[in-house]
Amino acid sequence: MKIDRVKMPVQEPNIRNCNFNEVALGLDLQLAKIEASRCLDCKNPRCVKECPVNIDIPAFIKSIKEENIEEAYFTIYKSNILPSICGRVCPQEKQCEGACILGIKSEPVSIGALERFVGDYAITNNLKIEECIIENNIKVAIVGSGPAGIACAVSLRRLGYTVDIYEALHEFGGVLQYGIPEFRLPKSIVSTEINKAKTMGVNFFKNIIIGKSITINQLLNEYNYKSIFLGNGAGLPKSLGLKGENLTGIYFANEFLTRVNLMKANQFPEAPTPVRIGQNVAIVGGGNVAMDAARTAKRLGAKNVFVLYRRDMNALPARLEEVHHAIEEEIDFRLLLNPVEFIGENYQVKQVKCEIMELGEKDASGRRRPMPTNKFKTFDIDSCVISIGQSPNPIIKKATPNLEVDNRGRVIVNDYQTSIPGVFAGGDVVTGAATVILAMGAGKDAAIQMDKYIQTNKD
Ligand code: FAD
Ligand code: SF4
Repeated sequence: MKIDRVKMPVQEPNIRNCNFNEVALGLDLQLAKIEASRCLDCKNPRCVKECPVNIDIPAFIKSIKEENIEEAYFTIYKSNILPSICGRVCPQEKQCEGACILGIKSEPVSIGALERFVGDYAITNNLKIEECIIENNIKVAIVGSGPAGIACAVSLRRLGYTVDIYEALHEFGGVLQYGIPEFRLPKSIVSTEINKAKTMGVNFFKNIIIGKSITINQLLNEYNYKSIFLGNGAGLPKSLGLKGENLTGIYFANEFLTRVNLMKANQFPEAPTPVRIGQNVAIVGGGNVAMDAARTAKRLGAKNVFVLYRRDMNALPARLEEVHHAIEEEIDFRLLLNPVEFIGENYQVKQVKCEIMELGEKDASGRRRPMPTNKFKTFDIDSCVISIGQSPNPIIKKATPNLEVDNRGRVIVNDYQTSIPGVFAGGDVVTGAATVILAMGAGKDAAIQMDKYIQTNKD
């Protein structure tokens, strides 16, 4: 008998767009077992090949079917210590679920929802895995506590290294903490998942900017780290380079989201940091970050939140699910519009002028190129959030002239090895803005290369 893919219960759109609580509510045991029963337990599972950290997906799903959730958790934990995070934010439709055999004729198994179910079960039931770590007393340093840094740290710790993570901010987790909003990824989940690395003995140091507080050379020569992993992400926002972009009321998405996620601006004045957005908010960009910014602005109380995007709906780079959620939450999409100027009064933004675009031939991305028409439209706004991409912050490069980077500031690596012997890199700082699980995969693989390097260069 054919069983339909189980639907994840969610908060109603008109209720959730007024609060910061999680939108997707998760599966209970009964729903998880029904969904798990759809898996064919393939001999040659295509889903596993597409998982960047190679979780044994059919094995953990089988354990759910058998109601052995602890076993399911142990299976996932071997490859991924952050299942509650990945189950929530991974673009599964492009990875494991995109490859699932069931997807050919009907809908793929809801692998992400099942992973989340298992991860959350482990948190609720305080499941702990004692790992036997044989210390080798060799020190390694990790720069950045995002998913790349955490995955690298955990892999090296398992090999017995003394692992120190240096983080510039006052909270750990990178984009998981300061970028992805609470309503998609609760911060209590991020902290609980990251605490697993602490329990394993990974040391975390906050408020230390590598390249300013301590240099890479100092880490190698004065602090005696045998190898370093750069997992410092891509946190530098791209600007539009337009007249009026410095007016008050114009934010970069990173700053806007950080104010809300990390500084709790939504709780102002109970929290000290405000974020003033007014009633009419324009969001520039069409990716996941733009969707997060738009949905956050709505929850902060803005009446009209509209996304300005220079192509059409089909070309939006954001995940389909995020776009659907945004539409349900009454985010307005104003398409084929390219901002050309911000107009202000007394230093405060008042309007955004946009050129109307039309679609031309396909470009290198395979999407139809937006073409200017020399016709314009102007919108009244109280604020604007620019979300057109990020690149790596140049602080480390400036302090480390022999670190090779490309023309977009991304660290150049060969098998995760940078131009400096013993210094490795992975995640967004190498690829540019990508995904959580790709960053974790890079951190894990880089750890293997770092171990090889240290073992070959032992005194
Ligand atoms: P980061 O997560 O950026 O972590 C880097 C860390 O290094 C940060 O904590 C930073 O403070 C620290 N750091 C930087 N410089 C220094 C320094 N000099 N010294 C010390 N520490 C330093 N991906 C998904 O898969 N699904 C999603 O739904 C999703 N949504 C996103 C939403 C937003 C708003 C954003 C911005 C990104 C989103 N992404 C998503 C992308 C994903 O979060 C990133 O690809 C991933 O976090 C990259 O991991 P990372 O460890 O390389 O870098
Ligand atoms: Fe199960 Fe789909 Fe993976 Fe096959 S491909 S093992 S059906 S999840």
